[in-house]
Amino acid sequence: MYPPSFEYVRPETISEAVALLGQHGDEAKILSGGQSLIPMMKLRVARPSWLIDIGRVPGLAHISEDGGHLKIGALVREADLETSDLIRSKFPLIHDTAGVIADPLVRNLATVGGNLAHGDPANDHPATMLALGAKLVATGPRGAREIPIADFFVSIFTTALEQNEILTEIRIPTPPPRSGGAYFKLERKVGDFATAAVAVQLTLNPDGTCKTAGIGLTNAGPTPVKATKAEDFLRGRKLDEAAMNQAAQLAADAAQPSSDLRGPAEFKKGLVKEFTKRGLRKAMERAGGGK
Ligand SMILES: Cc1cc2nc3c(=O)[nH]c(=O)nc-3n(C[C@H](O)[C@H](O)[C@H](O)COP(=O)(O)OP(=O)(O)OC[C@H]3O[C@@H](n4cnc5c(N)ncnc54)[C@H](O)[C@@H]3O)c2cc1C
Repeated sequence: MYPPSFEYVRPETISEAVALLGQHGDEAKILSGGQSLIPMMKLRVARPSWLIDIGRVPGLAHISEDGGHLKIGALVREADLETSDLIRSKFPLIHDTAGVIADPLVRNLATVGGNLAHGDPANDHPATMLALGAKLVATGPRGAREIPIADFFVSIFTTALEQNEILTEIRIPTPPPRSGGAYFKLERKVGDFATAAVAVQLTLNPDGTCKTAGIGLTNAGPTPVKATKAEDFLRGRKLDEAAMNQAAQLAADAAQPSSDLRGPAEFKKGLVKEFTKRGLRKAMERAGGGK
């Protein structure tokens, strides 16, 4: 199916793109990898009159560590995350996540910025960024501002980005020593969105107890879910089976999935519980130097 007709512009700079957003208001949409927007236009769910293609704007495709943060430009593709040595060695949770998004064709085009800005609770990066405590940089006519990830997802397909703002960078605090993370996802077939998925990031104290825990849930409600009760419960505890079970139950309690073609709500809550346990075990292993 063809999308409705639209005007196409390709700005050379971020400020030009921001000005175009201001000029065309609600009629305009940013185009990054097009892997969500174009299908939605073909289905006539989205009907922008103007597409502002930022795909070739320079300065938005970096993966670097600076000032205690990992900085990921909004235009970094999933395939770039999969092949980055920095991501593989220091941010296994992000590496896990990128590798289970869609299929290689989509991953060659889809961007991290688009994955987050789309505000789809079925997308995988939101839960991962919730677990990692990321901050998102939004650039608009008055400059750049940081939005904590916990404040970013407002409702289904709606984020805290203003109409004339562009997501330009994702900032993730560099994990301290004895940190590890993992992402577990069930999909009906390779390339599908998650039936449910869980992102876990842990930092351990020298005695092996939990210093901090981050837990994010995918496709477990109308917005991506941060399982704060489970996170709080784990802080300071020995990570034995009983503690992991209790945290996993608290994460499942935080999930509010709906029953649909991917399965009944109770089944999805069960997945969240199981994946939280697996995520905690794997994150703990990695925090101790395992792969
Ligand atoms: C077959 C298929 C399978 C898929 N499976 C998965 C999956 O398993 N997991 C998953 O997470 N995703 C999946 N996706 C979705 C895909 O990963 C996301 O579409 C992609 O990450 C969005 O990024 P994009 O660059 O393509 O954004 P686009 O499609 O270009 O844009 C998406 C939305 O975000 C806005 N936007 C984009 N970039 C910015 C920005 N920098 N600032 C402000 N607004 C912006 C656009 O205006 C639009 O509203 C799948 C897609 C397809 C086609």
